[in-house]
Amino acid sequence: MSSGFSADPLPLSLVAHTVFCERRAWLEAVGERTDTAQMAVGVASHRRADDPGSSRDRSVRSLDIGHKRMNLVGRCDVVDVRGDGSLGIVEYKATPVRRRPEITEAMRIQLALQRLCLEDMGHDVAEQQVYFTGHNVHAEVELDDEAFDTARSFARRAREIVSASIAPLPLVDDARCSSCSHISVCLPDERAEGEVQRRIHVADPDAQTVHLTTQGSRASVSKGRMVVKARGEEIASLPLERVQGLVVHGNCDLSGALIRQMLWRDLTIVWCSSVGRVVGWSRPAASANGLPRVRQHVASAEGRLDIAREFVASKVANQATLLRRNADGGRETIARLRRSQREAGVVDSLGQLFGVEGDAAAAYFREFPLLLSPSRSGEFRRRWPGRAGRHAHDPLNVALNYAYGLLLGEVVRAVVACGLDPHAGFLHSSARNKPALALDLMEEFRAPLADSAVVTAINNGELVIDDFTDVLGSSRLTERGRKVLVAGFERRIQTKFTHPVFGYRVSWRRAIEVQARMVLGCVDGTQGRYVGIKTR
Ligand code: SF4
Repeated sequence: MSSGFSADPLPLSLVAHTVFCERRAWLEAVGERTDTAQMAVGVASHRRADDPGSSRDRSVRSLDIGHKRMNLVGRCDVVDVRGDGSLGIVEYKATPVRRRPEITEAMRIQLALQRLCLEDMGHDVAEQQVYFTGHNVHAEVELDDEAFDTARSFARRAREIVSASIAPLPLVDDARCSSCSHISVCLPDERAEGEVQRRIHVADPDAQTVHLTTQGSRASVSKGRMVVKARGEEIASLPLERVQGLVVHGNCDLSGALIRQMLWRDLTIVWCSSVGRVVGWSRPAASANGLPRVRQHVASAEGRLDIAREFVASKVANQATLLRRNADGGRETIARLRRSQREAGVVDSLGQLFGVEGDAAAAYFREFPLLLSPSRSGEFRRRWPGRAGRHAHDPLNVALNYAYGLLLGEVVRAVVACGLDPHAGFLHSSARNKPALALDLMEEFRAPLADSAVVTAINNGELVIDDFTDVLGSSRLTERGRKVLVAGFERRIQTKFTHPVFGYRVSWRRAIEVQARMVLGCVDGTQGRYVGIKTR
């Protein structure tokens, strides 16, 4: 189809999306893909029509079409060849059985453009119809001159939309959003920052992040499932459809076919060392939001103090809340953290912000052992030297560092999923080859997710001092210790809570993605300001 077309022909499907919602067309054009059950039904119902091999003599399936002057390309599901040589177009649509099989404006425009394309290719088209797969009903569609004129003007509008560098604003309180497959990436209500009437749809409620922790294990693909084996025995098997991301801890192997499948499915793999340091991640070649990513780099270089302030203020607020909820005592520290939270919101420079953040962290970690139950934490407390990062030797810091690694993996996954670059941040420096944006965004989740998971695992007696070995005076987590922490972190991240800004129930895992998309909105110009999650 390429000969005779200028560069960048416009896909006909984007015109149909423009009719439905201009923002939806833009999101599709920048590569935002969603994987809802609704999309799966659509794909399944098209499967036969999408298979050119199932064509018969007088019924051609999945036919590529185009219009040279309009620089349009597209595909017809089915084209029937009639006795007189004229053609009949059949467009497949999957409409839920409970919804009436109605011809929408978008369908009419799509058929009009398909007809214009086929006529431009020298064919005579006699009729066009929609086949509603759920109802097994064919509906003829009449097209007049006005319909063709409307279709042409939508094609021109679609070209303007998809070449714009800024996304059209979301619809406001519009019923279309409730049936839109892109609601979970568009966030129409959250962008408005008003009261949210609808809940955003979770892409796939059953999907999960898989952690490979058994050292020496190998994960591969077999018959559409991810299969994990260790020492020749199968230790896990689950459908690839249920996998949302994969985290590899230490010495675990992946087959090339599995890596390829994950990339095809736009799913991120994060590799961590056995002590929980994130060492890398995979990113598919087709990544959404290329232009906003360029803007992100510009914003990172120029600075976005407004976003950075909110990261720190939320982090400090959540530290204070964790102490208030769980620590016996520590009132002065809580009051001090609340003051730091307010200061973080009004500082004039990144330098001041780091100062506020550093003071708050020192105060919080001085009180941190108060979060632990005295009966379970004797040895953890005894060896606690205060907070130590990468080169920690004591069990409590080692456990915290491991949990921060798990959290960083989740945040990287969310940042990559919405097309942002984990390396271009607004608070942490991008100059030291660190995943600065992921480190920025994880600040507000440290206390409620990572610290909380460690504290709960110790207080419940799940993580005990025997889960650490001493190597030359330095503590290391055993395999059992790693499994305990992964399980505790997973329980915590799947917990639902009421989003303090938007007021609906959401899992912490989903909340990380919502916050990443809020950053994206600040970068692409569709979000007024970043608002961090502050637990109460
Ligand atoms: S959720 Fe609403 S505003 Fe967003 S793309 Fe879909 S229809 Fe458009």
